[in-house]
Amino acid sequence: MELGKEISRKMISENIKMVDLHNQYLRIKPEVDAAIQNVLDTTAFIQGPQVNAFAQELSFYVGGINVITCANGTDALQIAMMALELKPGDEVILPVHTYVATAEVIALLRLTPVFVDVDEDTFTINVSHIEEKITSKTKAIVPVHLYGQCANMEAIQKIASLNNLHIIEDTAQALSADFIFSNGTHKKAGTIGTIGTTSFFPSKNLGCFGDGGAIFTQDVALTAKIKMMANHGQKIKYHHESIGVNSRLDTIQAAVLQVKLKHLNDYTHKRNEAANFYDHELQAVQGILIPQRVAYSTHAFHQYTLRAERRDELKTYLEERGIPTMIYYPVPLHFQKAYQQVGVGEGSFPVTEKLSKTVISLPIHTEMNMEELHYIVKTIKSFYHG
Ligand SMILES: *Cc1c(COP(=O)(O)O)cnc(C)c1O
Repeated sequence: MELGKEISRKMISENIKMVDLHNQYLRIKPEVDAAIQNVLDTTAFIQGPQVNAFAQELSFYVGGINVITCANGTDALQIAMMALELKPGDEVILPVHTYVATAEVIALLRLTPVFVDVDEDTFTINVSHIEEKITSKTKAIVPVHLYGQCANMEAIQKIASLNNLHIIEDTAQALSADFIFSNGTHKKAGTIGTIGTTSFFPSKNLGCFGDGGAIFTQDVALTAKIKMMANHGQKIKYHHESIGVNSRLDTIQAAVLQVKLKHLNDYTHKRNEAANFYDHELQAVQGILIPQRVAYSTHAFHQYTLRAERRDELKTYLEERGIPTMIYYPVPLHFQKAYQQVGVGEGSFPVTEKLSKTVISLPIHTEMNMEELHYIVKTIKSFYHG
């Protein structure tokens, strides 16, 4: 009996993944294989009809806003900033606790990234620290809907409109989440600011089988400009109005995304079921804090991120028992060699610095089963409670 228990524990722990793309694929294999085969049969690999069709379906999904597809989520941010005609020296405000891409494109365009610390409980930009960073050079704010929950967009909109700033929502981790305004109305994450951007990297909530991205905007003139920027700065072939980039969503990826978009609500639901289980089981464990849910956003649970005492020990303990975890992000941007700034040293962003030492993301994906979830929470409890 003990042996049987040992074997089943082993089988569970050998199979736990941060993200399980394989089993997700198997569930939609016939549909997705047919969609890919259809592209192969027509060989319309670039700008095949699936690309526009997907853009329209995604537009419908997020509430009717214009969708421009591109090659990845980093390009989406870059193209957004190019379309807004931000100029070298312009300042762009962003949270310092984010994936590097957000800061990278700002620096690449020779704009100045201006970091703001995040709120300890929500992991998103601390809106009470934004205004002190605004100068006459500030042109835009880039809130990041980190781990799947929206930043406080209503507060950010207020600050942006008072100061005449653009908002670019980095929605790479939160596609499908809803922002809930204080009057009770909802809008999809990414459709609230001047421009929204997202990524279809395979492990994102709506992932393709390679790289992909998209840009959202309500503004008709901006839509045309974004399309132009993503296509070598041309509206008419071989007539280049601006310096642009070459950033396209492949037809094969669009075909995959057409299939997967139909499952996105189900995927988000599955992530929420896992998160609810973690919440319920882990809320009383001494030594960890479960992620806080806010009233102004639903959660897409791209990551389920705890704040943990003895974080590194916990990580090793779980690893030794077959449970993978990730640290998003272990080194704050202002400590990165590429993003160091004069006068911005240790202690500049105490919350982000603390989070880099305490956050730990547990496995969460669309294919988790109860056995795995039970095993994970049991193992965490045994670490803290013995
Ligand atoms: C993944 C991600 C990006 C970049 O997307 P890619 O498609 O990998 O270029 C940008 N911002 C955030 C917050 C992300 O998580």
